[in-house]
Amino acid sequence: MRQRRLQLIQSLFDEYIEMYSSRDDKLTTRFSDNFSGYAGSSDVLITSKEEWIQITRQDFAQVPERIHIEMLDLSLQDLAEDILVVTAFFHIHLPVSESILCQETARLVLIFRQENNDWKIAHSGISIPYGLAKKGEIYPMTSLEDRNRELESIIQARTYELAEANSRLEKLSNTDGLTNIGNRRLFDQALQKEWNRGQRSNTPLALIMLDIDHFKLFNDHYGHLAGDDCLKLLAKGLSQSGRRAGELVARYGGEEFVILLPNADKQIALDTAKDIHQLIQSLTIPHVKTDLGIVTVSLGVACLQPSDQYCALELVRQADAALYLAKSAGRNCIRSMLPTDN
Ligand code: GH3
Ligand code: MG
Ligand code: MG
Repeated sequence: MRQRRLQLIQSLFDEYIEMYSSRDDKLTTRFSDNFSGYAGSSDVLITSKEEWIQITRQDFAQVPERIHIEMLDLSLQDLAEDILVVTAFFHIHLPVSESILCQETARLVLIFRQENNDWKIAHSGISIPYGLAKKGEIYPMTSLEDRNRELESIIQARTYELAEANSRLEKLSNTDGLTNIGNRRLFDQALQKEWNRGQRSNTPLALIMLDIDHFKLFNDHYGHLAGDDCLKLLAKGLSQSGRRAGELVARYGGEEFVILLPNADKQIALDTAKDIHQLIQSLTIPHVKTDLGIVTVSLGVACLQPSDQYCALELVRQADAALYLAKSAGRNCIRSMLPTDN
């Protein structure tokens, strides 16, 4: 007996959901003359059947295609001989903008009443979320779309801030803290990138390695802080005198700097080294422990055509070896691994 009553409630509800999902106008004939209800989007209780029929048609007009009701929970109540109640919780999947509404849990209370051997809907109360819909809407789509847009713009702003912060961080991690020019990390990346590019475009890559002469003596004589200032002055001079497109100046470590010269042949590299040598002498930073009484540098120059034959580090190795030659030759000079030495 009880089972049969439950089956009855279930079938009444299934019929309702099918008519509602398929936007079937027959639904409007199922309402009791003594109907009350409220639509998901409004907080006004409707007590007129005619008004409810109008709302139902408005609902069907706003989304004319079939909708999908994904049932989450269902409670069937056999309240009296002639009164049956269903409370349902579900997600509504509209055939438009899938992201809208389908995450919201709708709650529907339906009361069926037996009238003249027919079961009529005496009450329908659905809350979708409540109170969000604009005029002429049953589903609060405009509000939800507005909210989506608002959230998207917040996300966009946050994403932008994050990208900004990332790029600041990236810059920081590529910058030498003392001299504010590129650091070893930046140089390593640039070297590999330019090596690959040179290989692709069949253009040479040159490297100048520069080391301050007798810098330990400078520190010993003038103090470490003065040494720091000297490094800063040198870095500033080197970076401000940018000569060629794509040229990169970086602090390689300690009192050593590197200048990477994409698309520079041996002659260009040597000429650039001469310019730098001159530039640093022209700074005339006092250094009583050198022959000239000013800070001088030694430079090693290397130039290679990038190829599979070597790895990028070969260029560093050769520049370093050339620098060693310059130091061995008495400092304050340029040496290269090329026959046309200074
Ligand atoms: P050489 O002409 O052969 O290059 O002699 P040098 O004294 O310049 O070379 P050495 O490698 O013996 O000493 C390098 C000195 O550079 C020692 C170290 O204290 C100093 N140095 C390295 N980094 C810094 C720094 O950030 N600040 C200061 N003030 N000194 C530094
Ligand atoms: Mg050194
Ligand atoms: Mg040195």
